[in-house]
Amino acid sequence: MGADRVTAHRVVVVGGGFAGLSAVRALRRAPVEVTLVDRRNFHLFQPLLYQVATGALSPGEIASPLRGILKRQRNATVLLGEVEGFDLGARKVLLGRQANGRSSGELTYDTLVVAAGAGHSYFGNDAWARHAPGLKTVEDALEIRRRILIAFEAAELEQDPERRRAWLTFVVVGGGPTGVELAGQIAEIARGTLRHDFRHMDPSESRVLLVEAGDRVLSAYAGRLPAKAERALVRLGVTPRLSTMVVDVGEGSVTLSEQGGEPAPLRTETVLWAAGVAASPLARALAEEAGLEPDRAGRITVEPDCTLPGHPEVFAIGDMVRVSDGAGGDRGLPGVAQPAIQEGRYVAGRIRERLDGQAEGEPFSYRDKGDMATIGRKAAVADIKGMRFSGALAWLTWLFVHILFLVGLQNRLVVFVRWVLAFVTRGRATRLITGG
Ligand SMILES: Cc1cc2nc3c(=O)[nH]c(=O)nc-3n(C[C@H](O)[C@H](O)[C@H](O)COP(=O)(O)OP(=O)(O)OC[C@H]3O[C@@H](n4cnc5c(N)ncnc54)[C@H](O)[C@@H]3O)c2cc1C
Repeated sequence: MGADRVTAHRVVVVGGGFAGLSAVRALRRAPVEVTLVDRRNFHLFQPLLYQVATGALSPGEIASPLRGILKRQRNATVLLGEVEGFDLGARKVLLGRQANGRSSGELTYDTLVVAAGAGHSYFGNDAWARHAPGLKTVEDALEIRRRILIAFEAAELEQDPERRRAWLTFVVVGGGPTGVELAGQIAEIARGTLRHDFRHMDPSESRVLLVEAGDRVLSAYAGRLPAKAERALVRLGVTPRLSTMVVDVGEGSVTLSEQGGEPAPLRTETVLWAAGVAASPLARALAEEAGLEPDRAGRITVEPDCTLPGHPEVFAIGDMVRVSDGAGGDRGLPGVAQPAIQEGRYVAGRIRERLDGQAEGEPFSYRDKGDMATIGRKAAVADIKGMRFSGALAWLTWLFVHILFLVGLQNRLVVFVRWVLAFVTRGRATRLITGG
């Protein structure tokens, strides 16, 4: 046993998100020693983060400790640590701050899988981040929750109508699924959850603006789904501001410019950012080591088998990469969970095949399982294998799929109960103002 351990093929996986965790789990029967490194001790189910940001769920209900998930997988070790870079020549992962306070360290690998995900992009306007938080981490979700709830509290106290209006104006930037979900939920909070809670102002007077540079929301969705989503948003009380750019975000205001129009400032105390995505800095670190040029979103393009060009022993997967089509272009895969999960499983398969002596394998092939976005109570849109539908059926499908994909039986049960209660009472269990 001891001798086996020394000679086993060492696989280091960076990132315990959808891509990295799928790879680790799919290696459970392989003759390898896997080390999963993540700077967080939990796997986060990002698709439900907006529910934490709007007080419907608690962070613990959408996150699971990595050690717990992998406790029965004997060939996997979890390491809490920040990866800072790579020495591809020496086959080493360079670690920064670790749990025991050590400020550096390294891990040697035979095969490396990098799946460090993506963060926000403010398109070069990083100063906006302070005024317009994005939604990517548990901390982001709690900060957004704090800002939304504080805005209603401040409006209750405010005597000046102009200032009260600014507190009750919520601007969500970006008409993709996250922006649509956030805007819909804020409108539901204002018109449903809080409708009886205040004495000196009426929360239903809130304005929720969804600002989108393109001419429709959910532009990646096919057919009439974007138009249906827009109508559902309007019914909830959201005002879509399409073909509109954000040109500035500052203290207490956002400046918007409609196509061809003059920039116009708008007073608001709450701006939320759901517009741009930038790959993890580890994509750039890999690019520098391998002599590659990242794209504008910081992603690197990997070979059709998800390996780093020139480094067949290194795989990079998930939101931080584009997968080459082998003919000079890329496969155009969306930055969502399914490609990340499928790439993780594929890479594990390739590692097993190689250990069986099969040097060459099939390129990664993606099975599109469809798209779904929820807007509010009984309102969602879905496109599943060409079947496009909306309304209550899409909403129920969305609920079912999200429960199914949540990691951990306990989380699935708790979230199910929370949703049933929220549906019956229109309440939100975790309307706590914390931090700040
Ligand atoms: C708010 C929101 C809503 C979303 N909604 C949906 C949805 O409804 N449907 C859908 O399919 N997709 C959705 N997505 C997208 C989906 O979550 C991502 O596509 C998916 O998480 C990508 O998986 P990944 O493994 O590449 O990255 P991630 O899941 O982000 O995992 C990256 C992991 O790497 C770790 N890490 C990063 N840097 C380091 C480092 N330097 N050192 C150590 N560890 C590091 C992180 O802690 C993290 O655990 C949503 C995303 C967000 C943010």
